[in-house]
Amino acid sequence: MTADSIQLPHCPFCRIANHVEPAAIVYEDEGLMAFMDKNPVAEGHVLVAPKAHYETILDMGAEEVGRLFALAAQVAKAVWRALRPDGINLLQNNGPAAWQAIPHVHVHVIPRRYGDAISVRWPARHKDLAELKALADRIREALEL
Ligand SMILES: [Zn+2]
Repeated sequence: MTADSIQLPHCPFCRIANHVEPAAIVYEDEGLMAFMDKNPVAEGHVLVAPKAHYETILDMGAEEVGRLFALAAQVAKAVWRALRPDGINLLQNNGPAAWQAIPHVHVHVIPRRYGDAISVRWPARHKDLAELKALADRIREALEL
């Protein structure tokens, strides 16, 4: 837990991190936790989150994000071994426009089955290469590595 991490008493995930709110914990260490989603979209739906309160991934350092996704991958492998789904989605939402319901960073690990009712609309639009290159240029210029 870093000095600048603020635990918010009204945040459900901070409450789980502080063991104020009960949860079905899969894993926890000093900085990270994985627990069963209370409103799962599929059996075995796990959330992986930092214990420190960050609203979105944009607020986190790159190395912290790396540790978060490394744990998410380990949890996905465990879900695979334990439940033998047909597939697994890792989903990480930032902001209400991107379906983030709880404003404390988390990664969804969602076991999938052929024929399940989960769907994401993915309206594909054709872009020509010049448009794509212009977008790539804008994003490259904004990269801070
Ligand atoms: Zn929180």
